[in-house]
Amino acid sequence: MTVTTQVLELKLFIDGEWRLSTNPDTNKVINPANGELIAIAPRATIEETNEAIKVAKATFESGVWSKISAQERSAYLLKIADLIDEKHDELVELEIKDNGKIKAEADIDIDDAASCFRYYAGLIRTPDGETYHVADPLQAMVVREPVGVTGLIVPWNFPFLMSVWKFAPALAAGNTIVYKPAEVTPVTATKLIEIIDEAGVPKGVVNLVLGQGSIIGETIARSHDVDMVSFTGSTEVGRNIMRNAAGNLKKISLELGGKSPNIIFADADFETAVDHALVGIFYGSGQVCSAGSRIIVEETIYDHFVEEFIRRAKNIKVGPGLAEGSEMGAIVSESQLKNILEYIEIGKKEGATLASGGNRITENGLDKGFFVEPTVFVDVTPEMRIVKEEIFGPVAVIQKFKDEEEAVKLANNTIYGLAGGVFTSDGAKAMRVIKQVRAGITWINTYGPTYNEAPWHGYKQSGIGSSLGTFGLDEFQEVKQINISLNVGPTGWFSNH
Ligand code: NAP
Ligand code: MG
Repeated sequence: MTVTTQVLELKLFIDGEWRLSTNPDTNKVINPANGELIAIAPRATIEETNEAIKVAKATFESGVWSKISAQERSAYLLKIADLIDEKHDELVELEIKDNGKIKAEADIDIDDAASCFRYYAGLIRTPDGETYHVADPLQAMVVREPVGVTGLIVPWNFPFLMSVWKFAPALAAGNTIVYKPAEVTPVTATKLIEIIDEAGVPKGVVNLVLGQGSIIGETIARSHDVDMVSFTGSTEVGRNIMRNAAGNLKKISLELGGKSPNIIFADADFETAVDHALVGIFYGSGQVCSAGSRIIVEETIYDHFVEEFIRRAKNIKVGPGLAEGSEMGAIVSESQLKNILEYIEIGKKEGATLASGGNRITENGLDKGFFVEPTVFVDVTPEMRIVKEEIFGPVAVIQKFKDEEEAVKLANNTIYGLAGGVFTSDGAKAMRVIKQVRAGITWINTYGPTYNEAPWHGYKQSGIGSSLGTFGLDEFQEVKQINISLNVGPTGWFSNH
Protein backbone atom coordinates (compact mmCIF):
# COMPACT_ATOMS: atom_id res chain seq x y z
CA MET A 1 0.00 0.00 0.00
CA THR A 2 1.40 3.42 -0.94
CA VAL A 3 1.06 6.23 1.54
CA THR A 4 0.44 9.54 -0.20
CA THR A 5 2.05 12.47 1.56
CA GLN A 6 0.69 15.32 -0.51
CA VAL A 7 -2.03 17.48 1.06
CA LEU A 8 -5.26 17.07 -0.90
CA GLU A 9 -7.20 20.13 -1.94
CA LEU A 10 -10.88 19.21 -1.82
CA LYS A 11 -13.61 20.97 -3.76
CA LEU A 12 -17.35 21.31 -3.97
CA PHE A 13 -19.16 19.53 -6.80
CA ILE A 14 -22.18 21.40 -8.09
CA ASP A 15 -23.90 20.86 -11.45
CA GLY A 16 -21.08 18.63 -12.65
CA GLU A 17 -18.28 21.06 -11.82
CA TRP A 18 -15.54 20.96 -9.22
CA ARG A 19 -15.00 24.32 -7.60
CA LEU A 20 -13.84 26.13 -4.50
CA SER A 21 -16.16 28.10 -2.26
CA THR A 22 -16.37 31.88 -2.28
CA ASN A 23 -15.90 31.58 1.48
CA PRO A 24 -12.17 32.02 2.25
CA ASP A 25 -12.54 30.03 5.50
CA THR A 26 -11.36 26.44 5.09
CA ASN A 27 -11.43 23.22 7.08
CA LYS A 28 -8.14 21.48 7.85
CA VAL A 29 -8.49 17.72 7.73
CA ILE A 30 -6.18 15.85 10.09
CA ASN A 31 -4.96 12.26 10.17
CA PRO A 32 -5.97 11.22 13.72
CA ALA A 33 -3.17 8.65 13.91
CA ASN A 34 -0.40 11.25 13.75
CA GLY A 35 -1.92 14.74 13.66
CA GLU A 36 -0.68 15.39 10.10
CA LEU A 37 -2.62 17.61 7.73
CA ILE A 38 -4.03 15.43 4.96
CA ALA A 39 -6.48 17.73 3.21
CA ILE A 40 -7.89 21.23 3.04
CA ALA A 41 -11.61 21.40 2.43
CA PRO A 42 -13.78 24.36 1.50
CA ARG A 43 -16.60 25.54 3.75
CA ALA A 44 -19.51 26.25 1.45
CA THR A 45 -21.84 29.18 2.06
CA ILE A 46 -25.62 29.11 2.46
CA GLU A 47 -25.89 30.54 -1.08
CA GLU A 48 -23.77 27.74 -2.52
CA THR A 49 -25.83 25.17 -0.65
CA ASN A 50 -29.02 26.66 -2.03
CA GLU A 51 -27.50 26.66 -5.50
CA ALA A 52 -26.74 22.93 -5.18
CA ILE A 53 -30.34 22.36 -4.07
CA LYS A 54 -31.68 24.30 -7.07
CA VAL A 55 -29.49 22.26 -9.42
CA ALA A 56 -30.71 19.01 -7.84
CA LYS A 57 -34.31 20.18 -8.22
CA ALA A 58 -33.93 21.23 -11.86
CA THR A 59 -32.10 17.98 -12.65
CA PHE A 60 -34.81 15.93 -10.98
CA GLU A 61 -37.50 17.71 -12.96
CA SER A 62 -35.57 17.34 -16.23
CA GLY A 63 -36.00 13.58 -15.97
CA VAL A 64 -32.40 12.75 -17.03
CA TRP A 65 -32.24 10.48 -14.00
CA SER A 66 -35.75 10.17 -12.60
CA LYS A 67 -37.37 9.16 -15.89
CA ILE A 68 -34.81 6.79 -17.38
CA SER A 69 -35.42 3.07 -17.07
CA ALA A 70 -34.50 1.05 -14.01
CA GLN A 71 -32.22 -1.05 -16.26
CA GLU A 72 -30.25 2.04 -17.19
CA ARG A 73 -29.89 3.28 -13.60
CA SER A 74 -28.95 -0.23 -12.55
CA ALA A 75 -26.14 -0.29 -15.14
CA TYR A 76 -24.71 2.95 -13.70
CA LEU A 77 -24.83 1.48 -10.18
CA LEU A 78 -22.96 -1.62 -11.34
CA LYS A 79 -20.34 0.58 -12.97
CA ILE A 80 -19.95 2.52 -9.71
CA ALA A 81 -19.47 -0.77 -7.83
CA ASP A 82 -16.80 -1.86 -10.32
CA LEU A 83 -14.97 1.45 -9.91
CA ILE A 84 -15.07 1.07 -6.11
CA ASP A 85 -13.47 -2.38 -6.49
CA GLU A 86 -10.88 -0.99 -8.90
CA LYS A 87 -9.93 1.78 -6.46
CA HIS A 88 -10.25 -0.41 -3.38
CA ASP A 89 -6.68 0.07 -2.12
CA GLU A 90 -6.71 3.82 -2.61
CA LEU A 91 -10.09 4.13 -0.85
CA VAL A 92 -8.90 1.97 2.04
CA GLU A 93 -5.77 4.06 2.49
CA LEU A 94 -7.69 7.33 2.41
CA GLU A 95 -10.35 6.06 4.82
CA ILE A 96 -7.66 5.01 7.28
CA LYS A 97 -5.90 8.36 7.06
CA ASP A 98 -9.12 10.31 7.31
CA ASN A 99 -10.87 8.35 10.06
CA GLY A 100 -8.11 6.51 11.96
CA LYS A 101 -9.61 3.03 11.65
CA ILE A 102 -7.46 -0.07 11.09
CA LYS A 103 -6.95 -1.65 7.67
CA ALA A 104 -9.07 -4.75 8.32
CA GLU A 105 -12.04 -2.49 9.19
CA ALA A 106 -11.54 -0.21 6.19
CA ASP A 107 -11.31 -3.25 3.87
CA ILE A 108 -14.71 -4.43 5.08
CA ASP A 109 -16.23 -0.94 4.63
CA ILE A 110 -15.08 -0.57 1.04
CA ASP A 111 -16.09 -4.12 0.06
CA ASP A 112 -19.51 -3.65 1.67
CA ALA A 113 -19.96 -0.38 -0.19
CA ALA A 114 -19.41 -2.02 -3.60
CA SER A 115 -21.75 -4.83 -2.58
CA CYS A 116 -24.40 -2.32 -1.51
CA PHE A 117 -24.42 -0.69 -4.96
CA ARG A 118 -24.73 -4.14 -6.57
CA TYR A 119 -27.60 -5.08 -4.28
CA TYR A 120 -29.65 -1.99 -5.19
CA ALA A 121 -28.69 -2.37 -8.87
CA GLY A 122 -30.44 -5.74 -8.71
CA LEU A 123 -33.30 -4.76 -6.45
CA ILE A 124 -34.46 -1.87 -8.64
CA ARG A 125 -35.02 -4.31 -11.51
CA THR A 126 -37.38 -6.55 -9.52
CA PRO A 127 -41.18 -6.10 -9.57
CA ASP A 128 -42.31 -3.62 -6.94
CA GLY A 129 -45.81 -2.52 -7.86
CA GLU A 130 -49.16 -3.92 -6.82
CA THR A 131 -52.53 -4.36 -8.45
CA TYR A 132 -55.83 -4.88 -6.65
CA HIS A 133 -58.94 -6.86 -7.35
CA VAL A 134 -61.59 -4.18 -7.64
CA ALA A 135 -65.01 -4.18 -9.21
CA ASP A 136 -65.34 -3.72 -12.96
CA PRO A 137 -64.97 -1.38 -14.76
CA LEU A 138 -62.06 -0.21 -12.64
CA GLN A 139 -58.48 -1.32 -12.52
CA ALA A 140 -56.40 -0.24 -9.48
CA MET A 141 -52.66 -0.32 -9.10
CA VAL A 142 -49.84 1.10 -7.07
CA VAL A 143 -46.60 2.39 -8.56
CA ARG A 144 -43.50 3.67 -6.84
CA GLU A 145 -41.86 6.95 -7.75
CA PRO A 146 -38.73 8.74 -6.56
CA VAL A 147 -39.19 11.28 -3.75
CA GLY A 148 -37.31 14.07 -5.57
CA VAL A 149 -34.43 16.08 -4.13
CA THR A 150 -32.80 14.17 -1.28
CA GLY A 151 -30.40 15.70 1.24
CA LEU A 152 -27.93 13.12 2.49
CA ILE A 153 -26.12 14.02 5.72
CA VAL A 154 -23.61 11.54 7.11
CA PRO A 155 -21.32 11.10 10.12
CA TRP A 156 -17.59 10.42 10.38
CA ASN A 157 -17.43 6.92 11.85
CA PHE A 158 -17.97 5.03 8.58
CA PRO A 159 -17.58 7.96 6.18
CA PHE A 160 -17.69 6.00 2.91
CA LEU A 161 -20.02 3.17 3.90
CA MET A 162 -22.65 5.35 5.61
CA SER A 163 -22.71 7.53 2.48
CA VAL A 164 -23.16 4.51 0.22
CA TRP A 165 -26.02 3.15 2.36
CA LYS A 166 -27.85 6.30 1.26
CA PHE A 167 -26.49 6.87 -2.24
CA ALA A 168 -27.22 3.37 -3.55
CA PRO A 169 -30.98 3.32 -2.79
CA ALA A 170 -31.41 7.06 -3.48
CA LEU A 171 -29.88 6.73 -6.95
CA ALA A 172 -31.56 3.40 -7.69
CA ALA A 173 -34.95 4.97 -7.01
CA GLY A 174 -34.27 7.92 -9.35
CA ASN A 175 -33.72 10.76 -6.88
CA THR A 176 -31.22 13.58 -7.15
CA ILE A 177 -28.84 14.33 -4.31
CA VAL A 178 -27.34 17.11 -2.22
CA TYR A 179 -24.65 15.49 -0.07
CA LYS A 180 -23.04 16.77 3.11
CA PRO A 181 -20.35 14.57 4.64
CA ALA A 182 -18.93 15.22 8.12
CA GLU A 183 -16.28 17.93 8.28
CA VAL A 184 -13.78 15.68 10.05
CA THR A 185 -13.92 13.05 7.28
CA PRO A 186 -14.59 14.55 3.84
CA VAL A 187 -11.88 12.73 1.87
CA THR A 188 -13.48 9.48 0.71
CA ALA A 189 -16.75 11.40 0.31
CA THR A 190 -15.03 13.38 -2.40
CA LYS A 191 -13.75 10.12 -3.95
CA LEU A 192 -17.29 8.74 -4.01
CA ILE A 193 -18.44 11.72 -6.06
CA GLU A 194 -15.45 11.34 -8.40
CA ILE A 195 -16.41 7.70 -8.93
CA ILE A 196 -20.07 8.51 -9.59
CA ASP A 197 -18.97 11.16 -12.08
CA GLU A 198 -16.53 8.77 -13.73
CA ALA A 199 -19.33 6.20 -14.06
CA GLY A 200 -21.11 8.74 -16.27
CA VAL A 201 -24.05 9.66 -14.03
CA PRO A 202 -25.52 12.83 -15.64
CA LYS A 203 -24.41 16.17 -14.24
CA GLY A 204 -26.60 17.68 -11.55
CA VAL A 205 -27.75 14.30 -10.19
CA VAL A 206 -25.23 14.33 -7.34
CA ASN A 207 -23.98 17.51 -5.72
CA LEU A 208 -21.38 17.69 -2.97
CA VAL A 209 -21.46 20.53 -0.47
CA LEU A 210 -18.61 20.46 2.04
CA GLY A 211 -18.78 22.47 5.23
CA GLN A 212 -20.34 22.82 8.64
CA GLY A 213 -23.47 21.02 9.78
CA SER A 214 -24.72 24.11 11.52
CA ILE A 215 -24.73 25.94 8.18
CA ILE A 216 -25.07 23.44 5.34
CA GLY A 217 -26.95 20.75 7.23
CA GLU A 218 -29.37 23.35 8.59
CA THR A 219 -29.91 24.85 5.12
CA ILE A 220 -30.65 21.43 3.61
CA ALA A 221 -33.00 20.47 6.45
CA ARG A 222 -34.91 23.76 6.22
CA SER A 223 -35.07 24.10 2.43
CA HIS A 224 -38.53 23.88 0.89
CA ASP A 225 -36.90 22.61 -2.30
CA VAL A 226 -35.59 19.50 -0.56
CA ASP A 227 -38.15 16.67 -0.47
CA MET A 228 -36.37 14.36 1.92
CA VAL A 229 -33.48 14.34 4.37
CA SER A 230 -31.74 11.08 5.09
CA PHE A 231 -29.54 11.61 8.13
CA THR A 232 -27.16 9.42 10.10
CA GLY A 233 -25.63 10.92 13.21
CA SER A 234 -26.36 11.82 16.78
CA THR A 235 -29.82 11.79 18.34
CA GLU A 236 -29.43 15.45 19.29
CA VAL A 237 -28.80 16.59 15.70
CA GLY A 238 -31.52 14.19 14.48
CA ARG A 239 -34.03 15.95 16.70
CA ASN A 240 -32.91 19.26 15.25
CA ILE A 241 -33.33 17.99 11.70
CA MET A 242 -36.83 16.77 12.47
CA ARG A 243 -37.74 20.22 13.76
CA ASN A 244 -36.22 21.96 10.73
CA ALA A 245 -37.88 19.54 8.32
CA ALA A 246 -41.32 20.53 9.60
CA GLY A 247 -41.44 23.69 7.46
CA ASN A 248 -42.35 21.82 4.29
CA LEU A 249 -43.08 18.50 6.03
CA LYS A 250 -40.26 16.86 4.14
CA LYS A 251 -39.75 13.15 4.49
CA ILE A 252 -37.10 12.23 7.04
CA SER A 253 -35.11 9.12 7.66
CA LEU A 254 -32.98 9.20 10.82
CA GLU A 255 -30.33 6.69 11.87
CA LEU A 256 -29.21 7.86 15.30
CA GLY A 257 -27.25 6.93 18.40
CA GLY A 258 -27.34 3.92 20.68
CA LYS A 259 -26.33 2.45 24.03
CA SER A 260 -26.84 -1.16 23.17
CA PRO A 261 -27.11 -4.03 25.64
CA ASN A 262 -25.20 -7.28 25.30
CA ILE A 263 -26.68 -9.89 27.64
CA ILE A 264 -24.46 -12.79 28.71
CA PHE A 265 -26.08 -15.75 30.49
CA ALA A 266 -24.10 -18.17 32.65
CA ASP A 267 -24.90 -21.05 30.27
CA ALA A 268 -23.31 -19.26 27.28
CA ASP A 269 -20.17 -20.62 25.66
CA PHE A 270 -17.77 -18.59 27.77
CA GLU A 271 -14.97 -17.99 25.23
CA THR A 272 -17.49 -17.03 22.55
CA ALA A 273 -19.23 -14.58 24.85
CA VAL A 274 -16.01 -12.86 25.97
CA ASP A 275 -14.65 -12.67 22.43
CA HIS A 276 -17.83 -11.25 20.89
CA ALA A 277 -18.34 -8.82 23.76
CA LEU A 278 -14.83 -7.45 23.10
CA VAL A 279 -15.57 -7.06 19.39
CA GLY A 280 -18.97 -5.57 20.24
CA ILE A 281 -17.47 -2.63 22.11
CA PHE A 282 -13.89 -2.23 20.83
CA TYR A 283 -14.41 -2.66 17.06
CA GLY A 284 -13.91 0.74 15.46
CA SER A 285 -12.53 2.00 18.79
CA GLY A 286 -16.12 1.95 20.04
CA GLN A 287 -17.12 4.63 17.54
CA VAL A 288 -19.91 2.46 16.23
CA CYS A 289 -23.60 3.35 16.63
CA SER A 290 -24.51 -0.29 17.31
CA ALA A 291 -21.64 -0.89 19.76
CA GLY A 292 -22.46 -3.27 22.61
CA SER A 293 -21.45 -0.68 25.18
CA ARG A 294 -23.50 -2.12 28.07
CA ILE A 295 -22.43 -5.66 28.84
CA ILE A 296 -24.98 -7.29 31.13
CA VAL A 297 -23.68 -10.46 32.79
CA GLU A 298 -25.39 -13.11 34.94
CA GLU A 299 -24.12 -12.87 38.52
CA THR A 300 -22.89 -16.48 38.82
CA ILE A 301 -20.22 -15.88 36.12
CA TYR A 302 -19.81 -12.14 36.62
CA ASP A 303 -16.41 -12.13 38.40
CA HIS A 304 -14.91 -14.70 36.06
CA PHE A 305 -16.26 -12.83 33.01
CA VAL A 306 -14.93 -9.46 34.19
CA GLU A 307 -11.51 -10.93 34.92
CA GLU A 308 -11.20 -12.55 31.48
CA PHE A 309 -12.70 -9.56 29.65
CA ILE A 310 -10.15 -7.23 31.25
CA ARG A 311 -7.25 -9.59 30.57
CA ARG A 312 -8.21 -9.66 26.89
CA ALA A 313 -8.91 -5.90 26.72
CA LYS A 314 -5.41 -5.15 28.06
CA ASN A 315 -3.94 -7.29 25.27
CA ILE A 316 -5.57 -5.34 22.43
CA LYS A 317 -2.87 -3.73 20.27
CA VAL A 318 -3.78 -0.11 19.83
CA GLY A 319 -2.02 1.71 17.01
CA PRO A 320 -2.17 3.49 13.66
CA GLY A 321 -4.50 1.90 11.14
CA LEU A 322 -1.72 1.58 8.59
CA ALA A 323 0.74 -0.07 11.00
CA GLU A 324 1.14 -3.83 10.82
CA GLY A 325 -0.49 -5.58 13.78
CA SER A 326 -2.79 -2.77 14.96
CA GLU A 327 -6.03 -4.22 16.30
CA MET A 328 -7.72 -1.01 17.40
CA GLY A 329 -7.16 2.35 15.71
CA ALA A 330 -7.33 6.01 16.62
CA ILE A 331 -10.18 8.18 17.87
CA VAL A 332 -11.39 10.30 14.95
CA SER A 333 -10.49 13.74 16.31
CA GLU A 334 -9.04 15.62 19.22
CA SER A 335 -12.50 16.81 20.28
CA GLN A 336 -13.87 13.24 20.33
CA LEU A 337 -10.81 12.18 22.34
CA LYS A 338 -11.63 14.93 24.82
CA ASN A 339 -15.28 13.80 25.04
CA ILE A 340 -14.26 10.24 25.79
CA LEU A 341 -11.70 11.23 28.45
CA GLU A 342 -14.33 13.49 30.01
CA TYR A 343 -16.79 10.59 30.21
CA ILE A 344 -14.12 8.47 31.90
CA GLU A 345 -13.71 11.22 34.53
CA ILE A 346 -17.50 11.42 34.92
CA GLY A 347 -17.61 7.65 35.52
CA LYS A 348 -15.01 7.89 38.25
CA LYS A 349 -16.81 10.83 39.90
CA GLU A 350 -20.12 8.96 39.76
CA GLY A 351 -18.54 6.20 41.84
CA ALA A 352 -18.07 3.50 39.21
CA THR A 353 -14.92 1.41 39.47
CA LEU A 354 -12.48 1.95 36.63
CA ALA A 355 -11.35 -1.65 36.25
CA SER A 356 -9.09 -1.25 33.23
CA GLY A 357 -7.70 1.40 30.86
CA GLY A 358 -8.99 4.94 31.18
CA ASN A 359 -6.03 6.82 29.73
CA ARG A 360 -4.90 8.45 26.55
CA ILE A 361 -2.02 6.49 25.01
CA THR A 362 1.10 8.49 24.22
CA GLU A 363 3.86 5.87 24.25
CA ASN A 364 5.52 4.29 21.21
CA GLY A 365 5.12 7.35 19.02
CA LEU A 366 1.35 7.61 19.52
CA ASP A 367 1.59 11.01 21.25
CA LYS A 368 0.74 13.00 18.11
CA GLY A 369 -2.34 10.90 17.43
CA PHE A 370 -5.57 10.43 19.38
CA PHE A 371 -5.48 7.03 21.06
CA VAL A 372 -7.35 5.76 24.13
CA GLU A 373 -6.89 2.52 26.07
CA PRO A 374 -9.71 -0.01 25.89
CA THR A 375 -11.57 0.99 29.05
CA VAL A 376 -13.79 -1.03 31.38
CA PHE A 377 -16.04 0.17 34.20
CA VAL A 378 -17.66 -2.11 36.79
CA ASP A 379 -19.79 -1.46 39.90
CA VAL A 380 -22.12 0.72 37.87
CA THR A 381 -25.75 1.63 38.53
CA PRO A 382 -28.46 2.35 35.96
CA GLU A 383 -28.62 6.05 36.92
CA MET A 384 -24.98 6.74 36.07
CA ARG A 385 -24.34 8.87 33.00
CA ILE A 386 -21.74 6.41 31.72
CA VAL A 387 -24.48 3.76 31.70
CA LYS A 388 -27.18 5.96 30.14
CA GLU A 389 -25.33 8.12 27.61
CA GLU A 390 -23.63 7.19 24.37
CA ILE A 391 -19.88 7.70 24.88
CA PHE A 392 -18.90 6.72 21.34
CA GLY A 393 -15.48 5.48 22.33
CA PRO A 394 -13.76 2.31 23.63
CA VAL A 395 -15.50 2.36 26.99
CA ALA A 396 -17.49 -0.64 28.25
CA VAL A 397 -19.68 -0.75 31.34
CA ILE A 398 -20.37 -4.19 32.80
CA GLN A 399 -23.64 -4.66 34.69
CA LYS A 400 -24.81 -7.65 36.73
CA PHE A 401 -28.18 -9.47 36.69
CA LYS A 402 -29.85 -12.22 38.77
CA ASP A 403 -32.44 -13.64 36.40
CA GLU A 404 -33.94 -13.36 32.93
CA GLU A 405 -36.48 -10.77 33.96
CA GLU A 406 -33.86 -8.46 35.42
CA ALA A 407 -31.63 -8.91 32.33
CA VAL A 408 -34.44 -7.73 30.04
CA LYS A 409 -35.31 -4.88 32.37
CA LEU A 410 -31.72 -3.61 32.45
CA ALA A 411 -31.36 -4.05 28.68
CA ASN A 412 -34.43 -1.94 27.96
CA ASN A 413 -33.62 0.74 30.53
CA THR A 414 -32.48 3.22 27.87
CA ILE A 415 -33.86 5.95 25.63
CA TYR A 416 -32.17 4.17 22.70
CA GLY A 417 -33.14 1.06 20.75
CA LEU A 418 -30.60 0.43 18.04
CA ALA A 419 -29.01 -2.96 18.73
CA GLY A 420 -28.68 -5.75 21.26
CA GLY A 421 -27.20 -9.19 21.79
CA VAL A 422 -27.80 -12.27 23.89
CA PHE A 423 -25.42 -15.15 24.62
CA THR A 424 -26.81 -18.45 25.92
CA SER A 425 -26.82 -22.11 24.94
CA ASP A 426 -30.58 -22.33 25.62
CA GLY A 427 -32.27 -21.68 22.26
CA ALA A 428 -35.73 -21.00 23.67
CA LYS A 429 -34.33 -18.55 26.21
CA ALA A 430 -32.32 -16.78 23.50
CA MET A 431 -35.44 -16.17 21.41
CA ARG A 432 -37.56 -15.29 24.44
CA VAL A 433 -35.06 -12.65 25.53
CA ILE A 434 -34.19 -11.18 22.14
CA LYS A 435 -37.89 -10.74 21.32
CA GLN A 436 -38.26 -8.63 24.45
CA VAL A 437 -35.29 -6.39 23.66
CA ARG A 438 -36.69 -3.15 22.21
CA ALA A 439 -34.12 -2.72 19.44
CA GLY A 440 -33.97 -3.11 15.69
CA ILE A 441 -30.67 -4.92 15.09
CA THR A 442 -30.12 -7.96 17.28
CA TRP A 443 -27.87 -10.97 17.59
CA ILE A 444 -27.85 -14.35 19.29
CA ASN A 445 -24.44 -15.84 20.16
CA THR A 446 -22.69 -13.29 17.95
CA TYR A 447 -22.37 -9.51 17.91
CA GLY A 448 -21.98 -7.31 14.86
CA PRO A 449 -22.65 -8.99 11.52
CA THR A 450 -25.27 -7.34 9.32
CA TYR A 451 -26.07 -7.49 5.63
CA ASN A 452 -27.02 -5.13 2.83
CA GLU A 453 -30.12 -7.29 2.32
CA ALA A 454 -31.55 -6.78 5.85
CA PRO A 455 -32.98 -3.59 7.35
CA TRP A 456 -30.91 -1.43 9.69
CA HIS A 457 -33.48 0.10 11.94
CA GLY A 458 -33.54 1.93 15.25
CA TYR A 459 -36.37 1.75 17.79
CA LYS A 460 -37.13 4.56 20.24
CA GLN A 461 -34.68 7.49 20.04
CA SER A 462 -32.31 5.56 17.78
CA GLY A 463 -34.15 6.70 14.73
CA ILE A 464 -37.04 6.81 12.30
CA GLY A 465 -37.20 4.59 9.23
CA SER A 466 -34.71 2.04 7.94
CA SER A 467 -31.56 1.74 5.89
CA LEU A 468 -30.67 -1.19 3.63
CA GLY A 469 -32.77 -4.04 2.31
CA THR A 470 -36.07 -3.45 0.57
CA PHE A 471 -37.04 -1.21 3.50
CA GLY A 472 -34.13 1.09 2.68
CA LEU A 473 -35.38 1.50 -0.88
CA ASP A 474 -38.92 2.23 0.34
CA GLU A 475 -37.56 5.27 2.22
CA PHE A 476 -36.46 6.85 -1.04
CA GLN A 477 -39.76 6.25 -2.83
CA GLU A 478 -43.26 7.64 -2.81
CA VAL A 479 -46.19 5.31 -3.47
CA LYS A 480 -48.98 6.31 -5.82
CA GLN A 481 -52.28 4.59 -6.44
CA ILE A 482 -53.59 4.79 -9.98
CA ASN A 483 -57.25 3.98 -10.59
CA ILE A 484 -58.21 3.47 -14.19
CA SER A 485 -61.71 3.34 -15.57
CA LEU A 486 -62.14 0.75 -18.30
CA ASN A 487 -65.52 2.20 -19.16
CA VAL A 488 -65.05 5.86 -20.02
CA GLY A 489 -68.28 7.78 -19.23
CA PRO A 490 -70.08 10.01 -16.72
CA THR A 491 -70.91 8.71 -13.22
CA GLY A 492 -74.53 9.90 -13.23
CA TRP A 493 -74.08 10.84 -9.54
CA PHE A 494 -75.53 14.32 -9.99
CA SER A 495 -78.60 14.86 -12.07
CA ASN A 496 -77.83 16.67 -15.31
CA HIS A 497 -80.60 19.31 -15.58
P1 NAP B 1 -23.35 14.42 14.42
O1 NAP B 1 -22.58 15.36 15.22
O2 NAP B 1 -24.81 14.30 14.66
O3 NAP B 1 -23.07 14.78 12.90
C1 NAP B 1 -23.57 14.03 11.82
C2 NAP B 1 -23.64 14.92 10.59
O4 NAP B 1 -24.61 15.95 10.80
C3 NAP B 1 -22.35 15.64 10.27
O5 NAP B 1 -22.21 15.70 8.87
C4 NAP B 1 -22.58 17.00 10.89
O6 NAP B 1 -21.79 18.03 10.34
C5 NAP B 1 -24.04 17.20 10.57
N1 NAP B 1 -24.69 18.21 11.39
C6 NAP B 1 -24.25 18.76 12.56
N2 NAP B 1 -25.13 19.67 13.01
C7 NAP B 1 -26.14 19.71 12.11
C8 NAP B 1 -27.36 20.45 12.04
N3 NAP B 1 -27.70 21.34 12.96
N4 NAP B 1 -28.18 20.21 10.99
C9 NAP B 1 -27.86 19.30 10.06
N5 NAP B 1 -26.72 18.58 10.07
C10 NAP B 1 -25.87 18.77 11.09
O7 NAP B 1 -22.82 12.95 14.55
P2 NAP B 1 -21.32 12.50 14.47
O8 NAP B 1 -20.65 13.02 15.68
O9 NAP B 1 -20.76 12.86 13.14
O10 NAP B 1 -21.47 10.90 14.47
C11 NAP B 1 -21.66 10.17 15.64
C12 NAP B 1 -23.12 9.86 15.88
O11 NAP B 1 -23.68 9.20 14.76
C13 NAP B 1 -23.32 8.92 17.03
O12 NAP B 1 -24.39 9.35 17.83
C14 NAP B 1 -23.67 7.60 16.35
O13 NAP B 1 -24.41 6.72 17.15
C15 NAP B 1 -24.43 8.07 15.17
N6 NAP B 1 -24.45 7.03 14.11
C16 NAP B 1 -25.61 6.31 13.90
C17 NAP B 1 -25.65 5.33 12.94
C18 NAP B 1 -26.91 4.53 12.70
O14 NAP B 1 -26.99 3.85 11.70
N7 NAP B 1 -27.91 4.56 13.58
C19 NAP B 1 -24.52 5.05 12.17
C20 NAP B 1 -23.37 5.79 12.40
C21 NAP B 1 -23.35 6.77 13.38
P3 NAP B 1 -20.37 18.47 10.97
O15 NAP B 1 -19.43 18.12 9.90
O16 NAP B 1 -20.41 19.93 11.21
O17 NAP B 1 -20.18 17.68 12.23
MG1 MG C 1 -19.95 16.00 14.88
